[in-house]
Amino acid sequence: MADTIFARILRGEIPVSFLHQDEVCVAFPDNSPQAPIHVLVIPRQPFEDIIEADDETIGHVLNVAATLGEKLCPGGFRLVTNTGRDAGQSVQHWHVHLLGGRELSWPPG
Ligand code: AMP
Repeated sequence: MADTIFARILRGEIPVSFLHQDEVCVAFPDNSPQAPIHVLVIPRQPFEDIIEADDETIGHVLNVAATLGEKLCPGGFRLVTNTGRDAGQSVQHWHVHLLGGRELSWPPG
């Protein structure tokens, strides 16, 4: 498993403001926000992508992301998980993007 920027965040080597932390996952703001609210929810276990992650972790991470979305984005929100090259996944540690705070266009690029 490659060491990633998210592994470094989880080890406390890169400071971030956590919006949520529990035994399974953490959430923090994306440092290149694509919307007024852009939060990343990542499991502590370094699954490369959603295909590698187990059902229990997927359920927990999505539940945390949806709960944060409900709280931070009263007008609605989008959860995105880019998987693989064609989707533009740039960090090989599974994560869910929570996007909101403005009207989001569809379809995505
Ligand atoms: P993806 O392209 O779907 O793999 O998403 C990776 C996300 O991680 C991008 O939106 C980046 O802006 C974000 N990112 C990379 N490094 C950091 C960092 N140090 N702190 C917060 N977000 C980051």
